[in-house]
Amino acid sequence: MSSGHLLAVVLLVCGILSEAAGAQQLGALARLEHGVVRDLRFGGAEVRLKLSQGVPFRVFTLSAPNRLVIDFNEVDWQGMTGAELLTGDNVLNLRVGVYQPGWSRLVAELAGPMQVLSAGLETDESSGAVDLMVRLGRSGQDAFDATAGAPSDTRWDLPPALEVRPVKRRADVGRALVVVIDPGHGGIDPGAQAGGLTESHLMLTFARELQDTLRRAGGIDARLTRDADVFVSLEGRVALARAAGADLFVSLHADALGEGVAHGATVYTLAEDASDAASAALAERHDRDDILAGVDLTGADDRVATVLMDLARLENRPRSRALGRHLVKGIQNAVGPMHKKPWREAGFSVLKAADIPSVLIELGFMSSVRDLENLRDPLWRAGMAAGIRDGIRAWSLEDAALADLRRQ
Ligand SMILES: [Zn+2]
Repeated sequence: MSSGHLLAVVLLVCGILSEAAGAQQLGALARLEHGVVRDLRFGGAEVRLKLSQGVPFRVFTLSAPNRLVIDFNEVDWQGMTGAELLTGDNVLNLRVGVYQPGWSRLVAELAGPMQVLSAGLETDESSGAVDLMVRLGRSGQDAFDATAGAPSDTRWDLPPALEVRPVKRRADVGRALVVVIDPGHGGIDPGAQAGGLTESHLMLTFARELQDTLRRAGGIDARLTRDADVFVSLEGRVALARAAGADLFVSLHADALGEGVAHGATVYTLAEDASDAASAALAERHDRDDILAGVDLTGADDRVATVLMDLARLENRPRSRALGRHLVKGIQNAVGPMHKKPWREAGFSVLKAADIPSVLIELGFMSSVRDLENLRDPLWRAGMAAGIRDGIRAWSLEDAALADLRRQ
């Protein structure tokens, strides 16, 4: 393969595994040296990335919303989130990051339907660095939809995000309470950012501490939906909880809202319909982040939809609410005042398991100076973890007693 000229790759539908890149040495990580995403004339756009070496990559599009996805195996993004690369108006939003260990992703949300005109690599002979260029031109929505979708190619099958050990079911006497802890965001979706910190990192740190606290409490088998800076879809998080045989599910967040709007911890349970505007906005943003970050390619054999049964929900709803109530009590005892409305309901997708009591805890708001200080303070976090542990224990005792009553 000669280098030094542009390898134009015609994209019939979607995916390519670049021959040029495949011939390069694999193993070492390619570094992003610089990049730009800019407008082309007539509503098109261009992505240019300079990488320290060639890597296998593929390009495809997704609709609703219209997106361009480029997967790499793999790129060190040098701490960038993607927003830094964006210059024009034809791409509305850009994210780069880790998708799964070994896999990196770029997702560009497009202002309109666009087709991939060309994608290729240009190699610098002396340094081995490559310029990756993807050009997009305006197309019709119908044509876009017809070709959108992640390609199926076993070379790109991603590993499962979490190894799930078989667990004994709830009827087994004396078994541990399985608590699935869900650190929000991760990988290509960093969540809120403030003071040089990302929500995804803060939540992973706290989730590990909470896991440790719960394990030391005895009688609790605490697991994480992610134990690395990787992306897990909202649906994937719920599916993991179910596969792990979770008795309860605790999602952890610390979002940013406008300055002064909110501070203090809040416990959310699922609303039948989220009428509270602030709660609805948060729920919408989380779901939207997931859409922007991409599709879950790990497969959906455990579809959430198949278990959304009214019967399960009837029993689950009061159990989730009781869990929320106990958590508020536990947290207030441990760290003091919470948000002025400490227990709320919202339509978060991640709470939609019909058969697992689920809560989402906003530990604080990264937009609040005081909350951010707390989140960085290991002592405060230890108190918060203890409060959550106490709430879970109190709920578990009450729930077991109620379950005995229900059986009679
Ligand atoms: Zn969040």
